Amino acid sequence: MAAFPLRREHFEIAIICVLKIEGDAVEALLTETFSGLGKAEHDENFYTTGILGGKPIVLVAPRGMGTLNAANAARDMRQSFTRIKLALVTGVAGGATSTPEGDEILLGDVLISTQILQSDFGRNYADVVKIKDGLADTLGRPRQELANFLNHLQRSKCVQVLTKRINEYITEDCLVDVPYPGHGNDHLFPSDYPHRHRGDHLACICEVCTSAGDPVCDEAQDSKCDALHCDIGTCVRRRRIQDCQEPVDIRSGLSQQQILRRQNANPVSGPALPAQIHFGIIASSSQVLKNSKLRDELVTTRNVIGFEMEGAGCWDTFPTIVVKSVCDYADSHKNKQWQSYASAMAACCARGIVEEWQTSQTMTNSSRSGRPF
Ligand SMILES: [Zn+2]
Ligand SMILES: [Zn+2]
Repeated sequence: MAAFPLRREHFEIAIICVLKIEGDAVEALLTETFSGLGKAEHDENFYTTGILGGKPIVLVAPRGMGTLNAANAARDMRQSFTRIKLALVTGVAGGATSTPEGDEILLGDVLISTQILQSDFGRNYADVVKIKDGLADTLGRPRQELANFLNHLQRSKCVQVLTKRINEYITEDCLVDVPYPGHGNDHLFPSDYPHRHRGDHLACICEVCTSAGDPVCDEAQDSKCDALHCDIGTCVRRRRIQDCQEPVDIRSGLSQQQILRRQNANPVSGPALPAQIHFGIIASSSQVLKNSKLRDELVTTRNVIGFEMEGAGCWDTFPTIVVKSVCDYADSHKNKQWQSYASAMAACCARGIVEEWQTSQTMTNSSRSGRPF
């Protein structure tokens, strides 16, 4: 019953997700899938094609994390899908704690790139800041069509609509399988609060990193906050979390009924805090950022709102927007608790963005009439 008899040249939108959990979240939102479209001879990618938000999209997973893998996947895709006009790099990211305008960024919020900063952090020891000179450059300005589209997305009306949509989609399409982790599990430690073994704890036998000023040992870097007894009592208070008991969050645009549905769907973790969308510069690097000092430096000096690992790889090949939801604060305390929820939230936002895209294609139905997307 394919409503869209497609050839590969009919696809204008690519979605790139490196983690399985990110790709699964997008696939869950497809209303139709296609097979038999084939690919170019030397293209090593594997594709999922389908309808998202009423338009055909092609979904691909690079072979691994990092800008190089993303660049290879994008180049191969270019051979098979020759008319891609928009690539959405979708999934999870580390977040700044607030935007340059002072808006709080919380776990589960969605970041949309207006520019991509290619960064090379060097080695990111949890307690040492090493940023290589000259290796943090903003990639070129978006091509005109992408720049126009980004302007459209940032108009207040569109931000309102997108925000409303993502908070509805996550409730209606994903929430059953992807529980909200609970805002009680959104922990922002102060930048100077270390993720290290603590000498004041009886069980600690570490000889390397028990005192302030010690380097952080490898074992501590790979341990969870619970195991190291990081004190969540020190966490920074977040205004939106404190205000979340208010009956309706104005900015979410949710109705009272939708709020109630959320509360019923989350009897354990409490109502999901409505996510917000933030536009700004996203840093893209081949290394994972787990360093609050470096995070804060890039936020202060380069106005970065988030950190991820694929966007810069796609930029040379496709007009690219990074659409990622915050699953940690890019510090040494990071863990994976928010990954599935953030993946779903990013996928919901990608769907909202696809719905806003104006295609230049007019498809013909398999038998007859023209039908614009
Ligand atoms: Zn240690
Ligand atoms: Zn910790």
